[in-house]
Amino acid sequence: KEISTRENNVAKIKVVVRKRPLNKKEISRKEDDVVTVNENALTVHEPKLKVDLTAYVEKHEFCFDAVLDEHVTNDEVYRVTVEPIIPIIFQRTKATCFAYGQTGSGKTFTMQPLPLRAAQDLIRFLHQPVYRSQRFKLWLSFFEIYGGKLFDLLSDRKKLCMREDGRQQVCIVGLQEFEVSDVQIVKEYIERGNAARSTGSTGANEESSRSHAILQLAIKKHPEIKESKRNNDGNESKTGKVVGKISFIDLAGSERGADTTDNDRQTRIEGAEINKSLLALKECIRALDNDQIHIPFRGSKLTEVLRDSFVGNSRTVMISCISPNAGSCEHTLNTLRYADRVK
Ligand code: ADP
Ligand code: MG
Repeated sequence: KEISTRENNVAKIKVVVRKRPLNKKEISRKEDDVVTVNENALTVHEPKLKVDLTAYVEKHEFCFDAVLDEHVTNDEVYRVTVEPIIPIIFQRTKATCFAYGQTGSGKTFTMQPLPLRAAQDLIRFLHQPVYRSQRFKLWLSFFEIYGGKLFDLLSDRKKLCMREDGRQQVCIVGLQEFEVSDVQIVKEYIERGNAARSTGSTGANEESSRSHAILQLAIKKHPEIKESKRNNDGNESKTGKVVGKISFIDLAGSERGADTTDNDRQTRIEGAEINKSLLALKECIRALDNDQIHIPFRGSKLTEVLRDSFVGNSRTVMISCISPNAGSCEHTLNTLRYADRVK
């Protein structure tokens, strides 16, 4: 059975919020769940104190394209966010799916299963006669931006650099791309890349929360033998021309952008870089939404890398992850305000 391709009217920018459940620690501390979800709206009940120390609650209401509560499964997240975009990848769309939020809010939990599901669907499409006859193939790459530098997560964290060609196309020099035609192999690459993410002495979540992880799935048109012999000058001509692609981005913890006054110099530098990239990202998505000609890519490494995904036929899905506990209220409100600005 042919998969439907009629979902051409997928919104250019979609902003989705996902609330995670209270965790064991929060429950044992008897923390309140201060976020209530009502269809595509949510309310944050912020506990506050008056000057005379009497307690009161300030309510903040927000509305998004979709709000997913703590009962929503990863499968449903996929259906709401990525699934509608899959058919149009074959119609020259470049799509980006971000997870934004404070450390511990569920970004990695949310993002990790998405590329595998997407690859599964893309491979199903590839098997349709119409695409098989066009020599389309699926390619995977996985890298990280840490402290403003690029590292290949699928080749021993090799340091990468970026180059712009004459047609203002960004190219990440040396980035390994793998052709994948089998979901099991996709799974292995994803696991390998995840294992290679920044994990310093202070523990996995601590370090990975300071990096952006970018997994890209690209549909390329495989060159005919003749053609590939003729021009073997760059990456693109060897592996084929990009038809469409989707990038999955597990962003650095949004609170890390505030680490700019930390005593540790390295932490300060990283914090400033994260702050810069999250601001630049917001500006780019807003410019995109307003159909601005000038998109401010140059604001950060992150947005420069994503440059080709912000021009032409692009789609952006932002998944804002939030923690439900009272203690995270301030971060939750910051995340929702960021999402609100992008919307
Ligand atoms: P982040 O990547 O934003 O720092 P994680 O994805 O690592 O956060 O999530 C923090 C913890 O919360 C993990 O142990 C994760 O398994 C758990 N978690 C996150 N979201 C959910 C959810 N929707 N349902 C159940 N557990 C979740
Ligand atoms: Mg994470």
